[in-house]
Amino acid sequence: MGAEQGSILGQGKGTGCVVEKVTIIGSGPAAWTAAIYSARAALNPLVLEGAATEANRVAGTFPLGQLYFTTEVENYPGFPPGNLEAYLDAAIPPPRREMMPPHGGEGVSGPELVELMRQQAVHFGARVVTEDVIEVDFSVHPFRLSASDGGRYESQAVIVATGARANYLGLPSEEKFKNRGVSGCAVCDGALPRFRNKPLVVVGGGDSAIEEADFLTKFASVVYLVHRRDQLRASKIMARRAMEHPKIQVLWNRVVAEVVGTDQAGVTGVRVASTAGEPDQVVEAAGMFLGIGHTPNTAFLKGQLELTPKGYIKWTTPFRTHTSVDGVFAAGDVGDDYYRQAITAAASGCMAALDAERWLAAR
Ligand code: NAP
Repeated sequence: MGAEQGSILGQGKGTGCVVEKVTIIGSGPAAWTAAIYSARAALNPLVLEGAATEANRVAGTFPLGQLYFTTEVENYPGFPPGNLEAYLDAAIPPPRREMMPPHGGEGVSGPELVELMRQQAVHFGARVVTEDVIEVDFSVHPFRLSASDGGRYESQAVIVATGARANYLGLPSEEKFKNRGVSGCAVCDGALPRFRNKPLVVVGGGDSAIEEADFLTKFASVVYLVHRRDQLRASKIMARRAMEHPKIQVLWNRVVAEVVGTDQAGVTGVRVASTAGEPDQVVEAAGMFLGIGHTPNTAFLKGQLELTPKGYIKWTTPFRTHTSVDGVFAAGDVGDDYYRQAITAAASGCMAALDAERWLAAR
């Protein structure tokens, strides 16, 4: 049985009998934009969107990507404040609509945005399989892909758009308050009303943490930067920006021991422990933002594509989505450790679809 077009969890095992023109691995903005463009180019794309398992949810690799774990999205063009309820009801098939978190009544949420993208791709004929790709063979052509249900696929072109996941500390209290004060993305969530004029905590000492802290000073009363050492890893210019900012206070030699909060209010504080023998202290805060790096979802590639030293897929041609293997393209955060925005991921998904289309046409 092949993938079911527009099914709830488009299950289906590839038989290996049909060679796909384009197979897209992933299910964030890059993947769905690539699917929309390649479907409209009559390439009949197959999307392997990832398996809807508890293991993937805990790891931050659940289908629909990082947007699935965020709340309001206020910086994706086209969604000013307004009530989308009726539109969501009309656009999303009832079985999937019923599984979505309730609409907040203001603009679009992360899950809503990416669900709308998925639906747009399905509308144009993208076929969806809700399984992980666990192995690829890019040394042969057509390329071969193996899925978590034992399905096997062959494809002339492949677009890898598996994204990256924000690193978290791994504390149970952190997990409990994700989306209720704990966030892996200040740019995505920082402007939410719950954080306005409140003290906030940022964890980390690299450029990302400082960028997050700096961004959050626009909204917060004070930003505590919790860093485990007595020296920042960040570049000198960024470190100076943090040290000189009147609203940023660095808590040196400190690690987060517990996120404190209530079911009703979400995060109310952070208990930090000292790495230098000082007593624990509870810092009052309405939110905790992680700035301790990201991990690209490239493990399944097992050396089949050239990666950067940080494990991201290496784009081999400037301003193109080509990878080290001819016919394999990469889009979104799986190749981008710099911009990491939904809109930039969507844009590179479009580029990958156009690159794949032209590559197929040239053959
Ligand atoms: P990074 O440079 O690897 O820094 C990660 C920070 O998190 C480090 O300070 C590290 O502490 C800390 N950390 C890691 N794991 C931790 C844990 N379990 N508990 C507590 N702290 C932990 O990562 P990044 O800041 O995301 O930057 C990634 C790359 O992007 C860098 O090359 C950076 O220069 C670049 N970037 C540039 C800009 C910019 O130029 N505007 C902005 C963002 C990122 P230690 O220092 O003790 O290891």
